[in-house]
Amino acid sequence: RPKPIDLLNQGIEKSQKVDSKVGIDTVVHWFRSDLRISDNVGLFHAVKKLQEQQKKSSGHDAPRLVALYTINEHDFRAHLDSGWKLQFALDAVNSLKNELRKLNVALVVRVFETKDPLLSRSLQYAKWFKDQCVGLARNANDAVFVTANAQYETDELYRDVKILGLNDSQFHFQVHHDQCTVIPGALTSGKGTQYTVFTPWYKKWVEYLKTHQKSGKDAVATFSFDTSKPINVDLEELESYDYTLSDEFLSYLPNQPLDVPEATEKQAHEVLRQFFHTKKAHEYNEKKDFVALSSTSRLSCYITSGVISTRAVVNYCYHENGNSLMRKDIKQNNSVENFAKEVAWRDFYKHIMCNWPYISMDLAFKFETMDIKWENDTEKFHKWCSGETGLPIVDAIMRKLLHTGYISNRCRMITASFLSKNLLVDWRWGERWFRKHLIDADLASNSGGWGFSSSTGVDCQPYFRIFNMKLQSEKYDPKGVFIKEWIPELKDVDNLKILREGISNAQMANGYSQPIVDLKESRERALEAFREAM
Ligand code: FAD
Repeated sequence: RPKPIDLLNQGIEKSQKVDSKVGIDTVVHWFRSDLRISDNVGLFHAVKKLQEQQKKSSGHDAPRLVALYTINEHDFRAHLDSGWKLQFALDAVNSLKNELRKLNVALVVRVFETKDPLLSRSLQYAKWFKDQCVGLARNANDAVFVTANAQYETDELYRDVKILGLNDSQFHFQVHHDQCTVIPGALTSGKGTQYTVFTPWYKKWVEYLKTHQKSGKDAVATFSFDTSKPINVDLEELESYDYTLSDEFLSYLPNQPLDVPEATEKQAHEVLRQFFHTKKAHEYNEKKDFVALSSTSRLSCYITSGVISTRAVVNYCYHENGNSLMRKDIKQNNSVENFAKEVAWRDFYKHIMCNWPYISMDLAFKFETMDIKWENDTEKFHKWCSGETGLPIVDAIMRKLLHTGYISNRCRMITASFLSKNLLVDWRWGERWFRKHLIDADLASNSGGWGFSSSTGVDCQPYFRIFNMKLQSEKYDPKGVFIKEWIPELKDVDNLKILREGISNAQMANGYSQPIVDLKESRERALEAFREAM
């Protein structure tokens, strides 16, 4: 069976050959997880098409650009996306509307509702989407030209394949590759196969950028157009920005919306600039794992919702690192390079998901691990979710996740390891919990990170390497500052042994209970369960 990404690429190729005999009245860019104007491949092509068409006719009848954003409540629920992510995306759409206005472009928001219970939902969605686009043309016989950027989850790929199949003389849908720095499928080994190990893949990734560099100015080409002039002659008020969402949908939004980072393109670039300006980027290697510090970039929500492109981030690193991503002249570990390498991990997981699409269908990359006999104790799982395991480092992290929608990579690895190894709970339970609570929830990176930590995924930790919670705590929160911040029951405790290992029965105080598992014994049980399955 062809992979969904191959079907998409075939559809893309076919759609690029279609040329309209009918005049194009309206060019539409469908914003999805690319909520930005700068360096947006699909939008760039939409503007290019518009300008070609505008040369043919001018004045008030000239073709115009319309921006479209659609909300599909069912898909949101199916993806288990978090309220934090939803709030961030809605804020980003609002900001996008204001920025597009400055270019005389109206942003239309439409909400999809399932109508016919007998018809497949994805087909209904595809047809509904086409109707929305065709309905934006000003004259009944005119054509619309629609661009969008590919999303690489399996359902999304199939959805776009379906929509591409609806192309006709009035509706031209084109999909572009925009989400990754290097397009999925572009990096293969000498034998032409896709990589499953990060390190050789990463070398190829850097090599690829070098050989495809269009100019010495940037590491990777970007796709921006002139924003100093309005795109449309007039700003048409399409009266379609006011949209209504169901009460159930709105109930997903976080209770403390003020804590959501400012979801604007300007702020995304400012966060990146500050990361370098405050020298955090240069101290990334030494500090990134200390859980009490805010020492990483915090760009993930911007990257996931597409408010900034990873191409822009990689180019920034390139310039800050003396126009290089891998400097052979620097012997010691280079922080900026390693930061860019982390950004590359995101590409890696997306490439993996495109090539092994079953990963986005709740399956482990390492098939043999599907036989692990998980204990799946629901009570223990709920204690993990709410930060009540009695292991201070785990509880502090899980409480922070619930309150802020964000935790660092080290925190994610610690808690994922604890759930899948010490508690022997199926990693997919944790993966779903993270997706429901992370502001940067991303299927490829999340399942990749869970696969890595639970030793079930691609290029993962060997199963016998099990994080020791006491040592993680000692190394990455040496004075217990983070633990005291998130566990009020322990805020007055100065005994480092208690902060690292939890409290014994005799010491039980302030309602904080003793650990729900013994670390040594649970480690042995995990080793046994993995050994049996492999
Ligand atoms: P920085 O350290 O500043 O890194 C910069 C950017 O590089 C990040 O914003 C992100 O886009 C990318 N990046 C960094 N580390 C990784 C990584 N290990 N894998 C993939 N991309 C990376 N990342 C998500 O974006 N969404 C998720 O849902 C997600 N779930 C994860 C679940 C687990 C169990 C683990 C171990 C990791 C997960 N990650 C996820 C990866 C990583 O933890 C986050 O990207 C990172 O913590 C975000 O914080 P930051 O922007 O400050 O990262």
